[in-house]
Amino acid sequence: MKQPHVLLVEDETHIAQGLIYNLEREGYLVTHAETGASAMEAFSSRRFDLVILDLMLPDSHGIDLCRKMRKAAPQLPILMLTALGEEQDRVKGLKEGADDYLSKPFSLDELLLRVHGMLRRSAWYQPVYNREADYLFGSNRIDLKNLKAVTASGDLRLTELEGRMLETFFANEGETLTRTELLKSIWGMAEDTETRTLDNFIVRLRKYFEVDPANPKHILTVRGRGYRFVKRPE
Ligand code: CA
Repeated sequence: MKQPHVLLVEDETHIAQGLIYNLEREGYLVTHAETGASAMEAFSSRRFDLVILDLMLPDSHGIDLCRKMRKAAPQLPILMLTALGEEQDRVKGLKEGADDYLSKPFSLDELLLRVHGMLRRSAWYQPVYNREADYLFGSNRIDLKNLKAVTASGDLRLTELEGRMLETFFANEGETLTRTELLKSIWGMAEDTETRTLDNFIVRLRKYFEVDPANPKHILTVRGRGYRFVKRPE
């Protein structure tokens, strides 16, 4: 997996240090800028996968930076950090192209969740599952490279689409994948159309891999949202 590169624009040292430490621990590469000028300098010399942008900077306003970055990189995920009492800025920032915001003080876990979610949604960041090694869950052994599976009820050949769906689940283990995300990553469909195709697919996978397909433990329905794959049920 490619290491996602985050541009952190934050002038408050203690906040920045905490964020850098934790983002790096999560496997992100972090470039830190304390001013608008150094942020734009970094921005124009490298390609980033996500920007965390504080709005109040010593030399500029984050909204101006947001506008410039959005213009140069239409798909770049931008997360704004706003302070209490900056509601107007928040609205303006979202209008100028920020994708999401967090109000200070925010919880670190919340920030990491948002960052992770935004990267996953962004078009060019596709976590790649390593197809070389067999994947084990329940009493199943999946060989994605050769599209073969060994299950409690026998051996199976998987179709390319079944393989792609399993790969998407394995790469996002434990996370809810929306119907749209699944349709898009498996079939390349952008819109929420033909969702029955997806449901039929899930029914089939459960029949293959669940001990009791009517009572799934691994391929779970998240009502109103989509599906979630769990490798080791509680
Ligand atoms: Ca600030």
